[in-house]
Amino acid sequence: MNLRTGYALMSLFVLGARSLPGQERAIPFWPDAVRTAIHAHVDGVAALETVRELARFHRVHASPGFAAAAELVRQRLASAGVQDAVIERFPADGSTRYAHFRSYYGWQPVAASLQEVSPNPTLLASFPELPVALADFSQNADVTAELVDVGAGTGPEDYEGKQVAGKIVIASGSLPSVHRLAVEERGAAGFLSDFPNQTTAWSGDDRDLVRWGHLSPYQLENRFAFMLSKRQSGRLRERLARGERIVVRAQVRAKMVPGTFDVVTATIPGVGRVNEEILLTAHLDHQSAGANDNASGSAAILEVALALRRAIADGSLAPPRRTIRFLWTPEIAGTLAYLVSRPEVTGRLRAGIHMDMVGGLLGTTRGTFHLSRAAETMPHIANQIAEAWFHDVVSTSAWYAEHGGDPYDGLVWPPGSREAFLGDLRAIEMGSDHQVLQDGAFRIPTVYFHDWPDVTIHTNKDQPENLDATKLGRVAFMGAGIAWTLAALPDSEAARLVVLARASAEERAAWARARAALGGDPRDGLLFEREALAQGIETLRSVASLWPPTAAAVAREVERLRRLQPPVPAAGERDVRVPVRSADVRGPLEVYNYDHLAEVLGPAADLRTALSGRSNGEVLCYEALNLVDGRRSVSDIRDLLTGRYEPVSVREVAEYLALLERAQVVRF
Ligand SMILES: [Zn+2]
Repeated sequence: MNLRTGYALMSLFVLGARSLPGQERAIPFWPDAVRTAIHAHVDGVAALETVRELARFHRVHASPGFAAAAELVRQRLASAGVQDAVIERFPADGSTRYAHFRSYYGWQPVAASLQEVSPNPTLLASFPELPVALADFSQNADVTAELVDVGAGTGPEDYEGKQVAGKIVIASGSLPSVHRLAVEERGAAGFLSDFPNQTTAWSGDDRDLVRWGHLSPYQLENRFAFMLSKRQSGRLRERLARGERIVVRAQVRAKMVPGTFDVVTATIPGVGRVNEEILLTAHLDHQSAGANDNASGSAAILEVALALRRAIADGSLAPPRRTIRFLWTPEIAGTLAYLVSRPEVTGRLRAGIHMDMVGGLLGTTRGTFHLSRAAETMPHIANQIAEAWFHDVVSTSAWYAEHGGDPYDGLVWPPGSREAFLGDLRAIEMGSDHQVLQDGAFRIPTVYFHDWPDVTIHTNKDQPENLDATKLGRVAFMGAGIAWTLAALPDSEAARLVVLARASAEERAAWARARAALGGDPRDGLLFEREALAQGIETLRSVASLWPPTAAAVAREVERLRRLQPPVPAAGERDVRVPVRSADVRGPLEVYNYDHLAEVLGPAADLRTALSGRSNGEVLCYEALNLVDGRRSVSDIRDLLTGRYEPVSVREVAEYLALLERAQVVRF
């Protein structure tokens, strides 16, 4: 059976777990009054209004626009009575390190324009009117020069027979590469770019999208780049190909400067278990508007904070036992800076919810909502809790869409949409701050809310009008419900989580057996089942850890699952070497604009491996490093990846770990 069939079966079993027979509560572990109180205090329309406010700021890391957005979030929290809302600032100066990650510079853009001077005087682009027009980390310039087409502009062959010194080139390749070849090596004054956006089934349909681009945030010699739509660049290229001589003038007022990664943090304080915190995160960047990515997640977790605060203030909810912490960060870089710099907080974080792109309308963005489980190497009851709240939204909204009635009862926030909530539960995918939280150095199990695809991502068209108040309300409702359960569920209800964890483990083990029976290596089939049960055991232990009175019940279930685990016959091919992770490397190897392997091994190093080349390669490599704990051998790591994801070979895992050894990330 191939990987896709395996995943299809896995998602079937998750969706099959919808209705629990005899379940008398909407959320199986809460009296309905708690669900009612959370619903009553969440406002999807207010969340969409927050998106509109945040979208006005060009929220590039360590820039004045980001700082202004952070201040807006802080003020909203403070005026709602959240007393400890503060902005913590961490240097972004090109030299300060956060574990292995070297911070980059801040950027202060003021104004920029690109005009055709001759033969047809026209304004081609201007900043800040179109914020994405100026590539991030562009710097001061006032140049009038002839335009030269260099194709992709990323290989020496693109420049053969072309004189680019002192000229402005137009190129479609990755911006830092074009800058190096055209500007640094051949003396071009700067360039125009139509570097394409993330690829989807709709790529190329809209020729007026202008992509957000960036030069290297480490390179203080940066000149400038302007971003053009495919339609604009296509017209210029056609004219150049006909032999026309086009002269343009580029004016830029912008500077790279030492800045700060600004992290907004606030809490709803717990009463009782003060050494345990539940985390909600969203990255507050990117470009303006950046409505779905990620004003939406930022607004949704703000709405969670405000809703829970209001519910506690009016007595509908009692204060939680554990503290709920909120973080609005510069994506990945700021989250890593915070976790490394605040070890006393990091040590208290028990589980998290991360939101990145959560408000898009299907008809415009083409994206549906996905709830990714925590990484398979750190199973946690947060998965089953998230699933229950997700199911409530799916079934409540579908009932309303099919039968009508009071929109309030259908989790609708007029004038938002009335559609059923479309989404799925799936395994972890890469690409946001949950990668930092779940890195093996921090191990904070995190569920991840994300829309995908989004045909407007990182372009001028990621606008608030593509978003839906109802969807934002439903997402905030789910986020509040999950966080509230983890932080506030009383011991008297926690036995219900043991029941759910057991059902989930049995279901998963049954599907593992089915997957094994459908083909493949029988030894791998036994690993599927053994690891499904191991994940069930780890999930049960997470219940006992947060709700100690369940310890005896959990111990009984763990013993039962352990007896069900099949022995796995020894493999012929074993690699018993034990990798140990360097204490200096904490957090993911790729940190936003920073690639640790390229930094250590040099930009020319070949970083491709068989493991990274797989369709799920990013996740497998991430998890392979997470599994390096100084005790597991290469073969042990291979068996866990196989059991929890898909069959991989010992040789593939060894090859990837050898690359990490060369980069001094691990040693044997
Ligand atoms: Zn994002």
